[in-house]
Amino acid sequence: MPENKIWSDEELLSSGLLHRSLKVAPHMVKNATGSYIHLQDGRSILDACGGAAVISVGHGNTEVVDAMTEQLREVAYIHTSDFTTSASERLANVLLQNYRDKISKVYFVNSGSEANEAAIKMAIQYFYEQGKKNKTQFISRKQSYHGNCLGGMSLSGHIARRQPFEGIIGSNFHQVSPAYEYRYKNSYESTESYVEELAKELEDKIVELGPDNVACFFAETIVGATTGCVTAPAGYFKKIKAVCEKYDVLLVLDEIMCGSGRTGSFFAWEDEGIVPDITTAGKALSGGYCPLSAVYLNHKVVDTLASGSAAFNCGHTYQGFALSSAAGLAVREIIDRDNLLQNVRVMGTHLEKSLKQALLSSNIVGDIRGRGLFWGIEFVADKATKKPFIPSARVGYEIQKRIFARNLAVYPGFGTFDGLSGDHILIAPTFNVTEAQIDVIVQTTAEVILLFEKQFHS
Ligand code: PLP
Repeated sequence: MPENKIWSDEELLSSGLLHRSLKVAPHMVKNATGSYIHLQDGRSILDACGGAAVISVGHGNTEVVDAMTEQLREVAYIHTSDFTTSASERLANVLLQNYRDKISKVYFVNSGSEANEAAIKMAIQYFYEQGKKNKTQFISRKQSYHGNCLGGMSLSGHIARRQPFEGIIGSNFHQVSPAYEYRYKNSYESTESYVEELAKELEDKIVELGPDNVACFFAETIVGATTGCVTAPAGYFKKIKAVCEKYDVLLVLDEIMCGSGRTGSFFAWEDEGIVPDITTAGKALSGGYCPLSAVYLNHKVVDTLASGSAAFNCGHTYQGFALSSAAGLAVREIIDRDNLLQNVRVMGTHLEKSLKQALLSSNIVGDIRGRGLFWGIEFVADKATKKPFIPSARVGYEIQKRIFARNLAVYPGFGTFDGLSGDHILIAPTFNVTEAQIDVIVQTTAEVILLFEKQFHS
């Protein structure tokens, strides 16, 4: 039962719970409804990021709560080696209903990290079953994030998160350049030739490692936390997919953050004109109501795994958790019934236009990029040279803190490129956000950034 006691920061820091920071007390939440998080101190925070792009149909949705309660009364947990539930079966069918020609099956786990670990193992097993037992090398991209477990972290180019564990991070993991036009495309170069260069780099890496040794290329369709909603240049994924096919390398797209409708399409790869072999997705899938992530597999992978001798071995105690499936199903039903992907597209266009109108002339805003309701603002110390702020200034965090002081939550980040700071904030509101809420998000964000800029340049 909820307790009405008001917790002081001192009490929180000395409580038995290990918080993410040992030094700064988190904000105690009383409850949350729609797009708002209500704190015990009386403040209501407009949630413009849903944590890390998790909240899709808003907080405190009673339809989701009712569906979950009903599921709890029916059956909460079963072990998936012997049992299944109607909730998980129905969710799988709903998720695949328009994609049966492209996707054969979906596998449910609890977190994005688990989904990516499963994808790594599925890729290895896919080749193992064909007798291609050396195909165990992985290629991913610098400045990527694929999770906190050892496999995902080995794939990730998130320098800060990798650093303490470099000594034990897997040796079968290799990285190529990110597809990041704002930072790395020369101004005299066309997008086409930049894309050619990136595809060539991947091809060279596969050849260097030996095509018989490479299992897959792993990438976020839109890069989330590390560099802030970086979309790929036009044509990039088509070229990459062609390279992968040429060398019998699986293409795995990580849509844990950008998928499940966040971009206005159910899969972000739909806008790239390709279909990957494996897709991972999470976060918005169950919208923050229960941990749920998914691994989507194409026919080729499923058929090979099914014909093999070994059972697929990536079980987790809570995989296919009935309660999570009920939450995912209720979230998806609301998205479909209320035509929320259309709202994501319309509100996304409004958000993009308003952010660019308010901020593109700012001298500390280098780039504004994203798709749907998934937008990043990158900060620079020098707009002409694109020089980042020094990491110790923690500009992304500082701006996020100042925005939070005005009762608006955005997601902070400082990136990892070239050993320098790549400060940004990320805006990812609920799929049912209103135009009036977008206007508050943009106005508050712009006011804080412009004030910060004034102080920085004074
Ligand atoms: N992959 C991407 C692209 C992510 O953004 C995240 C989390 O932010 C993960 C994987 C890991 O997901 P989780 O934190 O649910 O383990």
